[in-house]
Amino acid sequence: PLYLDHLASTPLDPEVLAAILPWLAPAAVGNPHAARHQPGWRAAEAIDAARAEVAALVGARPGEILFTGGATEANNLALLGGAPAGWPVIASAIEHPSVLACLPELAAQGHPTEILPVGRDGTADLDALKRLLAGRPALVSLMAANNEIGTLQPLEAAAQLCRDAGALLHSDAVQILSTGAVDVRALDLAFLSLSGHKLYGPMGIGALFVREGTAMRPRLLGGGQQEDRRAGTLPTALCVGLGAACRIARRRRTADATRLLALRERLFRALRQGLPDLRRNGSAAHGLPGCLNVTVPGLDAADLLLDLPELALSTGSACSTGSPEPSHVLRAIGLSPEDSYGSLRLGLGRGTTEDDVDRAAARLVAAITARGPR
Ligand code: PMP
Repeated sequence: PLYLDHLASTPLDPEVLAAILPWLAPAAVGNPHAARHQPGWRAAEAIDAARAEVAALVGARPGEILFTGGATEANNLALLGGAPAGWPVIASAIEHPSVLACLPELAAQGHPTEILPVGRDGTADLDALKRLLAGRPALVSLMAANNEIGTLQPLEAAAQLCRDAGALLHSDAVQILSTGAVDVRALDLAFLSLSGHKLYGPMGIGALFVREGTAMRPRLLGGGQQEDRRAGTLPTALCVGLGAACRIARRRRTADATRLLALRERLFRALRQGLPDLRRNGSAAHGLPGCLNVTVPGLDAADLLLDLPELALSTGSACSTGSPEPSHVLRAIGLSPEDSYGSLRLGLGRGTTEDDVDRAAARLVAAITARGPR
């Protein structure tokens, strides 16, 4: 099928695969934390090099990067491990479930928790943030870009408000890093999360940036790996793969962003032409170049996709498939449950061509039109 679900997962870059493969071979034996022999220290060196690549992508120092089992773990660690005792925790209404699901646990631990509302295009309400921060430090979690509607958040302005209030800022940067830059220093971030499989790297590996000097309680306890902040033997091959993916992203992100933006608008125009009542969700001016989220009023999008096995795309977020609830993101930007069931998310990526976009639009328009009046 034609793959248009790059916000759910990106294909492994061939250069990443080539970097990983030697580390999966029997000859690559060696626990990277057992560096008293050559097999161990060779693995440790490879992981150090990868850590430096991850750090370079976001403007951090290598010692500020912890490898994790993905961004879910990184987000959990930032919120559950990074909120100082008793501090309020503020998260935007459209954060990933791996952020929002931490809030009840934080509340049970005595943290006041607050949801930061967003406007109709998904942009966080900065006046509300200012009010929520009034006169007290807090941990704030605001994603760089949303994974369902693609909206880019005003991180610079939010960072300034956090700085003024003495708040710690965490940003889930999972979706932005293949097409946009985030600089942890410029934004003075305390925490930043990223994920390998949204960066043309491997699944099951991610990283958390923790600003030097920031207190954080570990969630995984054990053998003291990664300076006691995240126990567990690091998977050398996956770390090397994430490092390679970060190196490639740094080289490609600007050109990829330009190309994807043009493809996204081509796709939107083609869909709009065939489906005049189509509505766009998110922000065209401040949106991820590879993300188009649309609503076709009256459509049963999940049912439509059953008729289109030749297209791989999403309704709402892949992270919540299987749950019959309308997307919390589409609800937060004011869509009715009906409109949210009529919504499709198209995720374009490095391999997507103009021909792919034209074919996908033609198939969707034909299939939706064939269903007759809605
Ligand atoms: N945050 C965002 C914005 C995401 O899109 C995802 C992946 N759906 C995650 C966090 C979780 O990442 P992972 O799959 O690496 O656990």
